[in-house]
Amino acid sequence: MCDADVIVVGAGPTGLMLAAELRLAGVRPVVLERQPQLRETPKANGFAGQIVELLRYRGLLDRVEAASIGPIHTAPRVPFGGVHLDFSHLAQSPMWGLALPQPRLERLLAERAEELGAEIRRGHEVVGIGQDDGEVVADVQGPGGHYRLSACYLVGCDGPRSRVRDMAGIAFPGTTYPEVNRLGQVTVPDRVTRLDNGDLELPGVGRIRSGHFTRTDRGVFGFGWFTAEVALVQTTEDEPAGADDDAPMSLAEFQGSIRRVLGADLPVEDVTRLSRYGFQARQAERYRDGRILVAGDAAHQFPATGIGINIGMVDAVNLAWKLAADLDGWAPDRLLDSYHDERHFAGARALMQTQAQVALRRGEDSAAQALRDLFLELMADEQPLRRMGALIAGADIRYAVPNRNEHPLTGAFAPDLTLHTDEGTTSVAELMHAARPILLDLADREDLREAAEGWGHRIEIHAATAEDRPADAVLIRPDAHVAWAAAIDEPADSAVLELREALAVWCGTPLAATTPMAGVRP
Ligand SMILES: Cc1cc2nc3c(=O)[nH]c(=O)nc-3n(C[C@H](O)[C@H](O)[C@H](O)COP(=O)(O)OP(=O)(O)OC[C@H]3O[C@@H](n4cnc5c(N)ncnc54)[C@H](O)[C@@H]3O)c2cc1C
Repeated sequence: MCDADVIVVGAGPTGLMLAAELRLAGVRPVVLERQPQLRETPKANGFAGQIVELLRYRGLLDRVEAASIGPIHTAPRVPFGGVHLDFSHLAQSPMWGLALPQPRLERLLAERAEELGAEIRRGHEVVGIGQDDGEVVADVQGPGGHYRLSACYLVGCDGPRSRVRDMAGIAFPGTTYPEVNRLGQVTVPDRVTRLDNGDLELPGVGRIRSGHFTRTDRGVFGFGWFTAEVALVQTTEDEPAGADDDAPMSLAEFQGSIRRVLGADLPVEDVTRLSRYGFQARQAERYRDGRILVAGDAAHQFPATGIGINIGMVDAVNLAWKLAADLDGWAPDRLLDSYHDERHFAGARALMQTQAQVALRRGEDSAAQALRDLFLELMADEQPLRRMGALIAGADIRYAVPNRNEHPLTGAFAPDLTLHTDEGTTSVAELMHAARPILLDLADREDLREAAEGWGHRIEIHAATAEDRPADAVLIRPDAHVAWAAAIDEPADSAVLELREALAVWCGTPLAATTPMAGVRP
C-alpha cells in the first residue's frame, strides 16, 4: 500500500492544475512544495492560449476572470521575435489572454485543488527519489524533519531546474542564449514628457514609442502602458554570463541597463516589480521514466515569454486522466506513454516557434532588419497571421491518434458546439466540466450509441443536435481532444468498427457481457 496515489512535486501552475485534475478523476495526490508559503515573486503577468479555453471547459473561467486585472481579452498586438504581430484587423483574434499575475493564479489554483480534496504540503522539499516495479519513494525534508513518502507515480512539476528530472536521469538538452531581459513595472514621473498617444519624449534620445521595441546597437528597449498610469519597461542585452532568474534585481541594476541600451537615463518611480530572466531552449528527452514523469517547465523551457504557463498547464490536463486510468487498472497499453508522445510533440512545436523568435529578434545589421521586414509583410495577410496565432496559442495541436480515423476533427481540440438536448440547451464546454470522456451523438445514431454501451461505465453518452454539425458523432477525451469522429452519414459498418477501436484505445476493454470485441482490430 502506498501513502498516496501520486506525488506531485512543486506547487506552481503546472503542479496545482495537475492536482485538481487528478482529484476530478478520483485520484489521491499529495503536492510537495519546498516554499513554506504561496509565492509572492512576480513572474508571469498573465497568460494566453489554449489553456484559457480549457479553463472555460472546466467551468473555471469566471473565477479566473474575477481574480484578473480586467476581463478576458483578445490581444490586438502580440510581441513576436522583436516585432509585433497585429491581430487588430482580424474579425476575431486567435489570441485570448488574461492579465492574471502568477501569484494570484497560483492562489486560485491552490484553492481549487484543495476544494477538490488535494493535499498540499508547503515547506516540504523533495531531496531524493527512488523507484522500483511497485512504487516510487520520495525523500522529503519537511518542517518536522526528514521523512519518506511512497506513491504509485511521482510527477516532477518542479520548474526549469527540476531535481526530479535530474534524479530520474532524464536529459534536458538544449541551448542557453546570452540574452538577458530586465523588466520593471513602474510609473514615469511628470518631468518626462508623455504624449497623448502614450509615447515618451526623452531628452538625448527623442521619441520612445509606446507598444514598440526601440533598437539600439547595445540592445533592445521595450516600453508600454500596463494600466493608464503603470508602465512596463523592458531591456534586452547580450551578457555571456547569462542570467539567474531567481536572484533579485535592484533598481540600480535596472537603471544601469536602461542607460546602457538607450544611452540616456529614463527616470522611473513607484517600482512595483523588478525581474531579470534569461532565455533557454530546452526539452526533456523523455517525459517519463517508469513511475516518474515530468511536466511544465521541468519538461521544457522556451526562449520567449508568454507561453510557459499555457503549455505547462495543458501538460497537466493531458497527463491527469491517463494516470487515473492507469491507477484504476484499466488503462490500455501505451495510454500513459501517449503523454510523452503528445506533449513532447506540443512542446517541440512551442520550441520551434520560440526559437524562430530568437533568430528574428537577434542582429542589428541590414540583413537582420530585412528578415524582420519580410516577416511582417507575410504577416499582413490573414491566412499566415491566423496560422501564426494558432501556433503561438497552441491551438493548432492535432495529436496523432493510434486508432484509424481520417476525420479532420480527430486529434484536435473539440470545438465548443452549442447543443440542443431533451433537457435543454448546453454546450461541449459545459459537458466537459467533470473531465469525463464523452460520446456525443449529433445525428441520432442509435447504432453508435449501442456500440458504445459496453463502455457506459467509463464514458458519458449524450444525444444532441447542433447547427451545422461537423460530424455525426464525436468521442471526446477528458482533455477535450477528439479521439474519433464519424463523418456525416458515415455507414454503420465502418463507423461502428472505428468507434469500438477508438474506445478500446482510449477507454480500455468494454464490459464483456454487453459488447463483444469481435471485429475490433488489435
Ligand atoms: C520573469 C518571468 C516572466 C514570465 N512571464 C510569463 C508570462 O507572461 N506568461 C507565461 O505564460 N509565462 C511566463 N513566464 C514563465 C512561467 O512563469 C513559467 O512557465 C511557469 O511558472 C511554469 O510553471 P511550473 O509550475 O511548471 O513551474 P514553476 O512555476 O517553476 O513551479 C515549480 C515549483 O516547484 C517547486 N520546487 C522546485 N523544486 C522542488 C523540490 N525539490 N521539492 C519541492 N518543491 C520544489 C518550486 O518552489 C516552485 O514552486 C515567466 C517567467 C519569468 C521568470
